[in-house]
Amino acid sequence: MSGRHDKEKGVNVQVLLRCRPFSDDELRSNAPQVVTCNDYQREVAVSQNIAGKHIDRIFTFDKVFGPSAQQRDLYEQAVVPIVNEVLEGFNCTIFAYGQTGTGKTYTMEGECKRSKSGPNGELPPEAGVIPRAVKQIFDTLESQNAEYSVKVTFLELYNEEITDLLAPEEISRVTLEEKQKKQLPLMEDGKGGVLVRGLEEEIVASASEIFTLLERGSAKRRTAETFLNKQSSRSHSLFSITIHIKEATPEGEELIKCGKLNLVDLAGSENISRSGAREGRVINALVEHLGHIPYRDSKLTRLLRDSLGGRTKTCIIATVSPAVHCLEETLSTLDYAHRAK
Ligand code: ADP
Ligand code: MG
Repeated sequence: MSGRHDKEKGVNVQVLLRCRPFSDDELRSNAPQVVTCNDYQREVAVSQNIAGKHIDRIFTFDKVFGPSAQQRDLYEQAVVPIVNEVLEGFNCTIFAYGQTGTGKTYTMEGECKRSKSGPNGELPPEAGVIPRAVKQIFDTLESQNAEYSVKVTFLELYNEEITDLLAPEEISRVTLEEKQKKQLPLMEDGKGGVLVRGLEEEIVASASEIFTLLERGSAKRRTAETFLNKQSSRSHSLFSITIHIKEATPEGEELIKCGKLNLVDLAGSENISRSGAREGRVINALVEHLGHIPYRDSKLTRLLRDSLGGRTKTCIIATVSPAVHCLEETLSTLDYAHRAK
């Protein structure tokens, strides 16, 4: 796997860039294209005309996925090796980072309703990283002769408040007062990690059970969005899969491997403060290669504390739009993400 590996600090971060295709609206309005991807050269060019002068800026990433790249391409080239690490007992994290409307949720979840597996367990082309990772995990575990367990959690962070996306109650009927009661506290677990008290932790036996949970959770996120005023562009979602595998060594000893995969759909980059506060800083630390990650800063960074640094792999998928009306935010995203190179 390419990407930066800093042995001293043990940080292994890979930064990918994905540019979505034009939307139907953009096509209808003949929106000029300002972003051009060269997937083979791993380059993204942004063209601008400023005061009659044509300016091209070129950015290089560990991998580039242009508008014609399919969900499967991104998964196979970037995510398969990460999930293999998780199956070996390591903790890994994938972030989607970019302006609202550029494809973070599409990349992570895909088109949810159609993400159900077909009769032979195959996934539709629109399935994103989460369902594909789930499938890879169960395909691998089911082909091995070992005992295992798989647990998932799915939560949303908004204004430093945690909402459980797997909790059974209907969020649409929850009044504000009740909602406040439902916010879940974050606590030290006494083993160097943190846990969210009261968070539903679902033990799942098959890939299709997780697909059902994912749909329930993202439907809840969408409902919350409708009722609570476009919350999702300001909130992060975190889908975590924890795997325990019991293996026997050739000497007959029992060995438990525990791996965790965190899949983070970050708030729209236009809502993340780049200069400083809170979760802006953990991403800054990753991107700018500072090594020191300020875990105390926010609940998101505390939740990810056992999964960043050490022998872990971290992948940032930066997403952009090809269209001129997004130019300013596209340049911010590219500038910000390419500092990791
Ligand atoms: P975000 O989560 O970053 O706000 P979305 O994932 O909701 O953005 O994407 C916005 C729209 O663009 C959705 O309708 C989505 O289906 C579409 N879209 C995003 N990326 C792609 C892609 N690579 N291919 C096809 N459609 C995409
Ligand atoms: Mg989204």
